[in-house]
Amino acid sequence: MALLESSCPNLELVTRGKVRDLYRVDENTLLFVATDRISAFDGIPGKGKLLTQLSVFWFNYLKDMLPNHVITTEIDQMPEKVQKYRVQLEHRCLLVRNLKVFPVEAIVRGYITGSAWAEYKKNGTVCDITLPEGLKESQQFELPLYTPSTKAEIGQHDENIHPNKVPEIIGVKYAQQISEFSVKLYTKAKEYALRKGIIIADTKFEFGRDEAGILYLVDEVLTPDSSRFWLVSNYEVGRCQDSFDKQYLRNYLLSIGFDKKTGIELPSDIVKKTMERYIEAYKLLTDSDPTFL
Ligand code: ATP
Ligand code: MG
Repeated sequence: MALLESSCPNLELVTRGKVRDLYRVDENTLLFVATDRISAFDGIPGKGKLLTQLSVFWFNYLKDMLPNHVITTEIDQMPEKVQKYRVQLEHRCLLVRNLKVFPVEAIVRGYITGSAWAEYKKNGTVCDITLPEGLKESQQFELPLYTPSTKAEIGQHDENIHPNKVPEIIGVKYAQQISEFSVKLYTKAKEYALRKGIIIADTKFEFGRDEAGILYLVDEVLTPDSSRFWLVSNYEVGRCQDSFDKQYLRNYLLSIGFDKKTGIELPSDIVKKTMERYIEAYKLLTDSDPTFL
């Protein structure tokens, strides 16, 4: 069964995002719960656990570059009032620092695809950044491209902005740190993934800061929901790539005119195939089996 909504009545619910439920544990600490939902009505059993454990893998891999919001991943080390919900939450929750999240989605693109490819074909630009002529679909950029967007309020769409607009929103110092770290983190992860047979075509990071102004990596990192994953063995420049990520499900939902507000019952083979892809990505990237599922 998919967990569409967590229920922890003894904890204060801060918010439910598209995928995650956030609870306050104390003043400085949140419980960050990944559900299985893809809408209020449908979900993919186990997806929240997989996203959580893959994020944990990457948080560890990248921790020497930048601190992250994770306090603990182990339910045994969480307060008693969280352990109470062990059956529901184990493997899909993190105890995290409650940080001030910057209202910027730090998108990094290594390869030209999706909306970036559409804009380039039309105008020769990606997020208003002019690029050399003659790029082919799915081609690798000479250098990763930082293409931030605003983090929209619930119900609104994120909006692409030129990198030089970010300082106006969050100040020069943080804008600079975020653009530098985004590219460095992406580059380190991309090189690792390539050795494991996966191309991380693009990804989205979020950052937060604590009271002292220290920058942290927050949210989820380098999952199939926040990134485009392609198999190295299927990659070919000059065409659209088979998606190994959320795009597979998105394509299906588009093809049936899915409406998030009403939902539909996902056919079991689509649920199965989506989860199989997520599991395959997990296995390749971490060299281990998702025994927590
Ligand atoms: P999407 O991920 O598709 O943009 P969303 O913003 O609704 O949608 P969820 O993943 O469902 O995302 O919810 C997670 C929310 O928690 C996000 O708004 C994120 O910015 C916020 N968040 C992540 N880490 C922290 C943190 N350490 N402290 C406070 N808020 C956080
Ligand atoms: Mg999110």
